Amino acid sequence: MLSSLKKPEFSFEGIAGHSRIKQNLLKLAHSDSKPNAMVFSGPEGVGKLTCASAYAAACLCQSPGENGACGECHSCRCLSAGTNLDIFYWFRKKQNTTIDQMRQLTELASYAPAGGRYKINIIQDGDSLNEEASNSILKTIEDSPEYLITIIIYNNPGRILPTIRSRSFSLRFQPLDTGTVESFLGQKYPGDARIPFAARASGGSIGKAEMLLDAPCAEEARDIAADLIFGAMRDNYTLLSLAARAAGLDFNPPEKEEAVKQSSVKGYVVKDDSAVKKSSEEIQAGPSGFLPSPFYPEMTSQESITAFLELVSLWLRDILLIKTNGPEDRLVNTDRKPLLSKQAGAFKKVSTVTKMIEEILEEEERLRTNVNAQLSLEGAFCRLYGICRRDRAPGA
Ligand SMILES: [Zn+2]
Repeated sequence: MLSSLKKPEFSFEGIAGHSRIKQNLLKLAHSDSKPNAMVFSGPEGVGKLTCASAYAAACLCQSPGENGACGECHSCRCLSAGTNLDIFYWFRKKQNTTIDQMRQLTELASYAPAGGRYKINIIQDGDSLNEEASNSILKTIEDSPEYLITIIIYNNPGRILPTIRSRSFSLRFQPLDTGTVESFLGQKYPGDARIPFAARASGGSIGKAEMLLDAPCAEEARDIAADLIFGAMRDNYTLLSLAARAAGLDFNPPEKEEAVKQSSVKGYVVKDDSAVKKSSEEIQAGPSGFLPSPFYPEMTSQESITAFLELVSLWLRDILLIKTNGPEDRLVNTDRKPLLSKQAGAFKKVSTVTKMIEEILEEEERLRTNVNAQLSLEGAFCRLYGICRRDRAPGA
């Protein structure tokens, strides 16, 4: 599918980090021998698409300067208006970039450029190409006309077919350092107090940092992550309340009752401790339908559930860091240090925290393959509670 939704960056100047890669691309843009096939790989959100767009703009530009496209010539103006017919973006449809799209790419590739010397295809989700679609691109690359430039972007280098890799000019993108992400965000979101956290939690990906700043649930999810630890330390009743909150229900009693009713834990009475204890045992024995559905209004996709779990795991890593007197500059949730310290103090053993982190990582792994995210999450929450309970066991 051809799309002009995403406006390309015209200049390399505004792109954070990757100085060596930007130099390489600029040199190529000014050279007469450009590779017909290119592979950009590296973590999501570090700037691969932005660099590909800047490179494409520089190649198409009629008078590129030292920072790439001029932004003023006919080609650049068409680019910014979304009417440049020599650049195509291919985004995946649902799960895949389809063979039909790649056939369309091959057909379009056979027509000479409309305005300039080059015709450029940017395939954004190389990871989502199946074998058939990859082989179709391979053929296009092998019989590439002089004017054709094909750029394929991969998040996971392991997904690149060796046959494509061997025929392509390859650029490997690394995560950005925290300082680079932070200063980029500082310019884009001036005065936002959450920037240090977002930069540290991003793992060097501007895309991820922006997701944390933009997502309406990100801040709430961090609160829930924090409460989850206390909830897991206390009882299943707290976990259930938390689940209610995660599902977007309020905490006042009627809704609380409703949350409990929605769960499939039988015989659960809100204010009766013995029932709480009983339900705990039931949940331990085999949870089912524990979390009201949907688990979290903003978390409808597997990706966003994984993002939430990542926040929980970052929270636990901070607790571990404090508990082991690790270097403070590695703390991610810097703005929540008092709460983290309090929680760190509440754990008896360091191993409890590491076990919880392992549990979250295993859950993330399961979610990649598991079909029922809700059931899987309930199970993980209950195991977290189990781990905490052993931490508090007498004599432990
Ligand atoms: Zn130009």
